[in-house]
Amino acid sequence: MSEITITLPDGSRQSVQAGTTPLDLARSISRRLADDALVARVNGQLVDLCQPIESDATLEILTLGNPEALEVYRHSTAHLLAAAVLDLFPGTRLGIGPATETGFFYDFYRDEPFTPEDLEKIEARMWELQRADLPYERKLTPKEEGLKKYAEMGENLKCELIEEKAGEVFSEYTLGPKFIDFCRGPHVPSTSKIKAFKLLSIAGAYWKGDERNRQGQRIYGTAFFTRKELEDYLRQLEEAKKRDHRKLGQELDLFSIQELAGPGLIFFHPKGATVRRILEDWMRDQCVARGYSLVYTPHIARSDLWKTSGHYGFYAENMFKRMELDDAEYQLKPMNCPFHILIYQDRLRSYRDLPVRLSELGTVYRYERSGVMHGLMRVRGFTQDDAHIFCTPEQIEDEVVNCLGFALDVLHTFGFEQYQAELSTWDGGASGKYDGTPEQWNLAENALKHACERLNMQIKVVPDEAAFYGPKIDVKLVDAIGRLWQLSTVQFDFTLPRRFNLEYIAEDGKPHQPLMVHRALYGSVERFFGILLEHYAGAFPVWLAPVQAVVLPITDRHLPYAQQVTRRLQEAGLRATLDDRKEKVNFKIREAQLQKVPYMLVVGDREAEAGTVSVRNRKHGDQGAKAVDVFIQEITQLIAAKSTAE
Ligand SMILES: [Zn+2]
Ligand SMILES: [Zn+2]
Repeated sequence: MSEITITLPDGSRQSVQAGTTPLDLARSISRRLADDALVARVNGQLVDLCQPIESDATLEILTLGNPEALEVYRHSTAHLLAAAVLDLFPGTRLGIGPATETGFFYDFYRDEPFTPEDLEKIEARMWELQRADLPYERKLTPKEEGLKKYAEMGENLKCELIEEKAGEVFSEYTLGPKFIDFCRGPHVPSTSKIKAFKLLSIAGAYWKGDERNRQGQRIYGTAFFTRKELEDYLRQLEEAKKRDHRKLGQELDLFSIQELAGPGLIFFHPKGATVRRILEDWMRDQCVARGYSLVYTPHIARSDLWKTSGHYGFYAENMFKRMELDDAEYQLKPMNCPFHILIYQDRLRSYRDLPVRLSELGTVYRYERSGVMHGLMRVRGFTQDDAHIFCTPEQIEDEVVNCLGFALDVLHTFGFEQYQAELSTWDGGASGKYDGTPEQWNLAENALKHACERLNMQIKVVPDEAAFYGPKIDVKLVDAIGRLWQLSTVQFDFTLPRRFNLEYIAEDGKPHQPLMVHRALYGSVERFFGILLEHYAGAFPVWLAPVQAVVLPITDRHLPYAQQVTRRLQEAGLRATLDDRKEKVNFKIREAQLQKVPYMLVVGDREAEAGTVSVRNRKHGDQGAKAVDVFIQEITQLIAAKSTAE
């Protein structure tokens, strides 16, 4: 037996026999480490704890609680689910069972649908298997032998996967007597390591996400390292359900999706349109104040444009079908960039004209499969607050600082206190999959890094996650119930300037290629609207609220005074309405409260006589009588400050 050297994360080295497993090593370090160990990282790769190490390697043991082990932990819980299903429902066929951002799922194929009661039974069985501490055992199977075996078991879908993905020899994992699955691994060592999980729902899912394929039943669940984390998450889910923008959108009469018009196409009703107009006006005003030029561009263009931009090829799947017109073939735009490029290119640019910042609330159309659309969050037509910046290398860092500073202002303005920012970089050119020169990548990545330093932004660097055409920074916001939402993106592009031959005349009198940056801060206006709706749980701050105050006369007798008050509010520029229905005032208050109107102004004899209103706030309740002028002054100040207080 030969000796090998294992390097641990603290830099210490150990000489061990070849074939030692990470678990052996963990045991030799401490009993506690071995007990808590979930998975090992050997030479940067996650592997099972019992996988022998055959040559010199670096080794890290990931234990319970380590966020990097969570995906393996959740995927292992998916196996546990499948093993329980096979125990209870023999003959069920297996699809895939990956971890997701928030948990895991497994796809099953059987004729009978699973019921909510089945879900409870399955979960109970999972706990039994958990307590039995079954090992996740890995075995290697030659491809031909495996194909034969799965074919005999009737697992045709698995055969398809093995045909596509397996090498000459592939790994399989067993769990208990019935479950075996073709899987790359790794997994936690045994079921007792999984401490907290819950099955959540069942949904239909097509094999490989393609509606032409067989439909299976997808069981969703989630798993956490501790009971406490699981309970927090379940509470967040409950809260999210209450805030679901699709439900609130209907209750508050803000927007709809119309069956007759088609899925993924959004209709903003008057109240929703009011909020949207304010969002858009704010964005346009900010752009102008920050030196952007506003433009408008068409919604369709000849396919020739999309061929030049490259979208005709690599983006074809996301575009709507082509239209044959008399003179040529046309396509709906999935992006605004080529249009802004055409404006840039329409005249000769000198370095003195740069930076050119073109901004547009541009509506784009992208084809999404019918199964994946979701309220305002995933749609087929949406409006980006899109801008493209063309500049010189000397200007780029300041431009990025401006973009990111602008993005932070968006967060601040809408009351988001926390965010996360990620910088996606290239691989240094090793794979050859990235466009652009090393000089361009270095310049751009440095500009992004320096800009973050100048703004004091915490940033996480994700290597090798950039788009092929350039590095980017993504800003994600944290909403009122702790969820992360992708919001702003500042994205470099080395490809489009080359494809369109963009130029400017530099100080040396020669043509140079400008740098190009795409940036969207809301991302999609529709989606941002949805995020705000959920963040505020429908109670938009006063400056955004579609109706800021409603005047409620106690009886018909008070109608003339109520009308007079309403007029004064409206003349002061407030969005005020009068509820003159023949209903009891308490009923009207309840309704205004449900509609989340910030202020309810009750007027009766006393108020009419004194020239006051009795103010009721949706959050704080009764605030006493106030002179109309005083109320107007106070609310106007809140609006001007875009305050989230009231
Ligand atoms: Zn697996
Ligand atoms: Zn763009």
